[in-house]
Amino acid sequence: MSKKIFVTREIPEIGIAMLRSAGHNVTVGTFRKPPTKKEIIKALKSGEYDGVLTLLTDSIDQEVMDSAPSVKIYANYASGFDNLAIAEAQKRGIAVTNAPTNASSLSVAQFAITLMLTLMARITEADRFVKKGKYVGWSATNFVGSGMTGKKLGLIGAGRIGSQLALYAKALGFSVLYFDVKRNEVFEKECGATFCSSLDELLPESDVVSIHVPLLDSTRHLIDEKRLSSMKSSAFLINTSRGAVIDEKALEKALKKSVIAGAGLDVFEFEPKISRGLRKLENVILTPHIASASDSARIEMAKVTAQNIIDYFEGKAPANLVS
Ligand code: NAD
Repeated sequence: MSKKIFVTREIPEIGIAMLRSAGHNVTVGTFRKPPTKKEIIKALKSGEYDGVLTLLTDSIDQEVMDSAPSVKIYANYASGFDNLAIAEAQKRGIAVTNAPTNASSLSVAQFAITLMLTLMARITEADRFVKKGKYVGWSATNFVGSGMTGKKLGLIGAGRIGSQLALYAKALGFSVLYFDVKRNEVFEKECGATFCSSLDELLPESDVVSIHVPLLDSTRHLIDEKRLSSMKSSAFLINTSRGAVIDEKALEKALKKSVIAGAGLDVFEFEPKISRGLRKLENVILTPHIASASDSARIEMAKVTAQNIIDYFEGKAPANLVS
């Protein structure tokens, strides 16, 4: 039966085409930047929608749900789902799905290793130096970076993305440590990874720390001032998970005071706002939440998200049901 679906903003056309060919009536929001909660409520009120395809920038809470009582499913076009009030949806019997795909896990793991290597080889600093016309000739001391062989990568979270990153890092000569609330002995065997039972064990040992946990109450500010100060002063911190896993003010202070050597950040605590202080630092690489923005990942995510909606309205359990 045809359902009314609202897609908050543009996604790859394949997802819209799938929904339409399954017989649904699809409206795509025309917002040019992430809509505010007020704008989402206004759009939903105007349509009596049965389902909503949300992006990770759409904040869907109790107030939004109140304003759209006809909505039966929120299908998030992201692997994370911290933008949706899951407990509230559960209470109301509203389905929530996410979109983890193999292509997006590969894309994020590849992005994380790129951030690591770019920082360690000081590529962005050197690029800025050359473009400013400062290169006056080769020198043995120019931009000496940090070698990889024999270094230790400390993973916080060894799920889909973390475990893939471990394979790339191992191939480059890193040894891998990990901390996760769930120990994974298969992963340990495959990667030769060593389990740490706490962050206190992992952080002082690691030359690079890469974060791959979801944003939950238990992971908010998991990396704070105290934990930053337990890291090596030569260490790098990579975050492609969610910004609020790090206390960003504390990180800025730590980078300014050389408590750690540098950071590669794709996600920010108050994104898209990023402090001037952080933006001015030489020893950080900042990217606009694009770790999963590979062509193949974006297309797979659109297909998976659309299929979750199609399955739900055909009475089948969607593959990625969160609640
Ligand atoms: P996953 O669910 O496969 O793995 C997460 C791991 O974190 C699990 O092994 C889990 O046991 C562990 N974990 C949960 N709470 C923990 C805690 N308190 N301490 C230690 N470990 C904990 O997720 P994934 O697909 O690997 O993705 C990880 C996160 O990356 C997502 O939740 C999402 O927020 C983020 N992400 C970002 C982008 C991007 O574009 N930057 C793209 C995709 C995913």
